[in-house]
Amino acid sequence: MTETTRFNLPQSEIPRAWYNVQADLPRPLPPVLHPATRQPVGPDDLAPLFPMALIMQEVSRERYIEIPDEVREIYKLWRPTPLIRARRLELALDTPAHIYFKYEGVSPSGSHKLNTAVAQAYYNKQEGVQALTTETGAGQWGTALSQACNFFGLECTVYMVKVSYEQKPYRRVMIQSFGAQVYASPSDTTQAGRAILEQSPDSTGSLGIAISEAVEAAATSGGRSKYALGSVLNHVLMHQTVIGEEALKQLEMAGEYPDVVIGCAGGGSNFAGLALPFLRQNLTEGRKTRIIAVEPEACPSLTRGRYAYDYGDAIGLAPLVKMYTLGHEFVPPPLHAGGLRYHGMASIVSELYDQKLIEAVAVPQLESFDAAVRFLRAEGIVPGPEPSHAIAQVVREAQAAKEAGEKRVILFNLSGHGYFDMSAYEAFLSGKLDNYRFPEAAVDSAMAQLPVVD
Ligand SMILES: *Cc1c(COP(=O)(O)O)cnc(C)c1O
Repeated sequence: MTETTRFNLPQSEIPRAWYNVQADLPRPLPPVLHPATRQPVGPDDLAPLFPMALIMQEVSRERYIEIPDEVREIYKLWRPTPLIRARRLELALDTPAHIYFKYEGVSPSGSHKLNTAVAQAYYNKQEGVQALTTETGAGQWGTALSQACNFFGLECTVYMVKVSYEQKPYRRVMIQSFGAQVYASPSDTTQAGRAILEQSPDSTGSLGIAISEAVEAAATSGGRSKYALGSVLNHVLMHQTVIGEEALKQLEMAGEYPDVVIGCAGGGSNFAGLALPFLRQNLTEGRKTRIIAVEPEACPSLTRGRYAYDYGDAIGLAPLVKMYTLGHEFVPPPLHAGGLRYHGMASIVSELYDQKLIEAVAVPQLESFDAAVRFLRAEGIVPGPEPSHAIAQVVREAQAAKEAGEKRVILFNLSGHGYFDMSAYEAFLSGKLDNYRFPEAAVDSAMAQLPVVD
């Protein structure tokens, strides 16, 4: 085994611009609609929630947007992240495929989310905002935003989905260590939270509910506080493209180009962050890389949802977005350990899927943990439960390459480590996890709740 397995770029190669795929889409994204009037929202509608710089990025059609120096300076804490060839996994799978992964778990927050958290905190600070509110599911986004707020001297309030608040105390303590206030959602601190608690006092919460609470807290703060979202929005996906831009250069160092690019998809940001620069090469340079989004069978928005207008949150405060959705009232089963629980999918990823420019698959929970254990035994890194879904697809592709007898180059995003998720591993190793497939009847009834938009 003499091959190089780590491809590191110098800090001078931290990208200078984010890639905005909106410049290259075959047709423009469907407009975002106001939840009450159902008319396209304008910048003024969004101004109570976001700083103007981010609102402009959200709708920009410019291909590249320069990364501010202050943001690149903070990126130096962990970027460029390594590109690693999983040579030992290749051997364990006995595959002719070459498997590479981009490792975002080296960030101080442990996942890719800090790439956008730093950018969002920066633009809010620039515009005189004093505090940010947000939701968090598994806790990675809350961790990232609390760190970013800490770097820029902003206050931070995090509504954490109750089931995670209770099951992941260490994530909560980490968020609190960076000075943020954390509430279990649904909480009694907002009208949205109180309304849910009245209906279902035992609610374990959902991302949609936590978003409602965080949006309400910002909207009623009198301008002191704005809201930050960790995925789904166009500007969030754009901030993540530093991942794919670095990977392009690193694969060039390795003398390879991917046949397949794979990422797990919850709201779509880590997947898009890796994939969009490769999609650009497909669209503009005639490359033919297959690009695959992987979701859990327990929350299959792309593979079983509908491409329709739906609310971004649980109670209809947030704008209507056209996306693949399971319905805004979707509450994921608490027995599902693997993260990736949002009811919808980023508008950009939804549109790419609808245009057949990317593929999507859903994998069962046990297959993804099984793949995670294979990976950690070969490569030594404990993957987060979310990117383990991507690893499951990597294993499938590596086996397909073996059957075809072809050397295929597979690239995936290891979006974060799983060192705070050992209880999920414990549940898996002791046989307590099950496969859960979202029932057909539940999909149908959720679809009946979609808002009617003509
Ligand atoms: C949040 C998170 C995800 C899912 O969110 P996306 O926006 O789909 O990337 C995946 N992996 C990790 C490590 C995360 O923290």
